[in-house]
Amino acid sequence: MISSDVCALCGGKLCDGFTELVMKVGNEVVVIKRVPALVCNCCSEAYVTPEVSEKIDEVTQKFRAGKLLVRPLAAGEIELQMSA
Ligand SMILES: [Zn+2]
Repeated sequence: MISSDVCALCGGKLCDGFTELVMKVGNEVVVIKRVPALVCNCCSEAYVTPEVSEKIDEVTQKFRAGKLLVRPLAAGEIELQMSA
């Protein structure tokens, strides 16, 4: 949970930004780009909200089910790329 806009690691300020997540789904590695997050301006630690975390679960489940030819999320919100 994010209870404030202060970094839990270094006490820096958190600003709206984006991060990238690398996740393993089955035997494949998925890079989820442009994940909305709060990013520390000191140590670059990224904090993902529970809401975004749920969307990531949704995306990875659809990926696992082979349904990702359609974009399940709002355009530009989360881009999902498979690495070879
Ligand atoms: Zn920090």
